[in-house]
Amino acid sequence: MEIAPGVHRVDNVRGGNAYLLAGNRLTLIDTGMPGGAARVLSFIRSLGREPEELEYILITHGHMDHAGSAAELRRLTGAKVVAHRDEVVTGPDASYVLAPASTGRLRPVLRLLSRLGRFEPCPVDTVVDDADTLPCFGGMRIVHTPGHTRGSMSLLFEERRVLFVGDAIISNRDRLSRPLPFGADREESERSLAKLAQLSFDTCCFGHGHPLTSGAMEAVASFAANPPTSPLWQRLAARRQELAMFMVRLWTPRVAEPPDASRRRRP
Ligand SMILES: [Zn+2]
Ligand SMILES: [Zn+2]
Repeated sequence: MEIAPGVHRVDNVRGGNAYLLAGNRLTLIDTGMPGGAARVLSFIRSLGREPEELEYILITHGHMDHAGSAAELRRLTGAKVVAHRDEVVTGPDASYVLAPASTGRLRPVLRLLSRLGRFEPCPVDTVVDDADTLPCFGGMRIVHTPGHTRGSMSLLFEERRVLFVGDAIISNRDRLSRPLPFGADREESERSLAKLAQLSFDTCCFGHGHPLTSGAMEAVASFAANPPTSPLWQRLAARRQELAMFMVRLWTPRVAEPPDASRRRRP
């Protein structure tokens, strides 16, 4: 599915969304669950491009549903894996390794899921920080947005006016919502949302759910300006069915959708 010129959501990936940016070279944002490398490669070929053209694999955060196939894709394409400095740990050979579940009270749950999902930790070639830039797809700026995890990052392509927020915001069918906080306090999450609300963009792409291609800036700003008033456990209890469906969807491939599937949601 082409969301904006050159911005594609990769079809049939399990877990979080994977986005392919097709410019002079190729850039991948997130990879979905483990075992998805072949799907990404066949999507690249379906655009008439070659896997060797993949230059960067940008990881919004280290959860298995986003970084699951990063190690395999790095091996198969030679692309450089990029992640935020707070999302990596130093491995035994002093190289950086994407940390699947390094922080937060939900760490044991993530550890178990990572083991069940056969998540292979991924070496990181380029460690970035807030405001760093990379010369891909017309120029990209890192926006550090901790909250969901400590090293969560959003990616702003200023010239193309496209923003990728990973799991800083979840896009549901009819509204935006806050993700589970795995690694930072709530105030930090809200500060990250306020930071996103200051940015200038036309299209917003999320780690889960449909992108916003119209009124995106206004929707994000209004969402950030309205923090929840009830405690987390109450909100989780109210959304238990939605959460159960979310877990089921993580393990099943998302099939191609018609281009008009993206629609405006209320914030
Ligand atoms: Zn996710
Ligand atoms: Zn996540």
